[in-house]
Amino acid sequence: MARVIDQLWEYIAIAVGILVILGGVLLGLLRGRGGRTKSAPTAPPRKKEVLPGVGDDAEEPRDTPTRTIEDRGGVDTLPPAEVLPEPAPTPTIERPEAPAGRLQRLRARLARSNTALGKALLSLLSRGGLDEEAWEDVEDTLLASDLGVEATTELVESLRSKVKVEGATDEATVRGWLREDLLTLVDPSMDRSIASSRVAGRPAVVLVVGVNGTGKTTTVGKLARVLVAQDKDVVLGAADTFRAAAADQLETWGGRVGVPTIRSDRDGADPASVAFDAVKAGAEMEADVVLIDTAGRLHNKVGLMDELGKVKRVIEKQSPIDEVLLVLDATTGQNGLRQAEVFGEAVDVTGIVLTKMDGTAKGGIVVSVQRKLGVPVKLVGLGEGPDDLAPFDAEAFVDALID
Ligand code: GDP
Repeated sequence: MARVIDQLWEYIAIAVGILVILGGVLLGLLRGRGGRTKSAPTAPPRKKEVLPGVGDDAEEPRDTPTRTIEDRGGVDTLPPAEVLPEPAPTPTIERPEAPAGRLQRLRARLARSNTALGKALLSLLSRGGLDEEAWEDVEDTLLASDLGVEATTELVESLRSKVKVEGATDEATVRGWLREDLLTLVDPSMDRSIASSRVAGRPAVVLVVGVNGTGKTTTVGKLARVLVAQDKDVVLGAADTFRAAAADQLETWGGRVGVPTIRSDRDGADPASVAFDAVKAGAEMEADVVLIDTAGRLHNKVGLMDELGKVKRVIEKQSPIDEVLLVLDATTGQNGLRQAEVFGEAVDVTGIVLTKMDGTAKGGIVVSVQRKLGVPVKLVGLGEGPDDLAPFDAEAFVDALID
């Protein structure tokens, strides 16, 4: 019995052992399946496709160290900085001399060149008991001053009748007569103003004509200064396209007083189209006055008329012309008077500018040219300085001749 019980226990122990082993195997199998789920390789997480924000770390550190100036070899080895040109100095705009009183300032120059005339007349007239020969001398002196035959005859007749009435007289009285008669000839009543104010909402247009070499371009430049000194807004038109340097010359004059110059880049461009552009620009800029320099290629009347006629017609497509100033070189005497005649037939001259009056004793040309054209001398040039152009004043002029 005891052996049976022992064998029974033996069987139970074996069965339990088998059960423990089977349980262990089963548990192992179950564990192996669950672990595989956890450890299975997974796809790497997708990068966040957003830009790094402030404070985000860089994903990858720079693999190159930051270089310093020393690493680069110092500043000296950098390419040399471009050397900029010195900025051009801002041009200084000149303030021209006020026109009033200019003739007084320049009177000495006028007097210097015309002393011969005044002195000769005074000494002849105050000598008393004038005979025919003496009167002829008076006449010759006046003619030599370019006063012209007509005016000379009138003056001599007037003086003769005064001497006849008064008899021999002192120099002061003679000077008084001479002053009075010369003044009558020069005619202080003529309107010598220059059109330089806006008319009907547009700029005044002034055409400046004359033979090359008379001082035309210089006069346009000087006149711009006269007008600037009167606070006028001026535009210049360089329509003398035949003389190569004329446009540059004019632009320089304008630049000195801050006045724009309308010009062509090309020598020989059509003067009428430059004049047209200048008037147009003047209107757009709301200028007071447009001054147009023209070419003075005279030489035959037909050519001149064609050229000036075209400039005039083209300008008049946009604006009437208010003033035509004829520039004459006072030293050229009779030649100047012939030019006046030709120009007078080509255009309606409204005023005369006599240049180089500082270099001539022929002050009488003022009277003869006014008579020839029936228009006043409005300006006189008395030197090469920028402000050596003066509004003509009859009294100051006559005083300069005989004082
Ligand atoms: P354009 O060909 O008629 O335009 O003549 P410019 O204006 O070029 O002048 C010719 C020369 O005359 C220049 O040397 C000027 O300086 C000179 N000139 C102009 N006006 C006067 C003046 O009133 N007096 C003197 N002495 N010279 C002048």
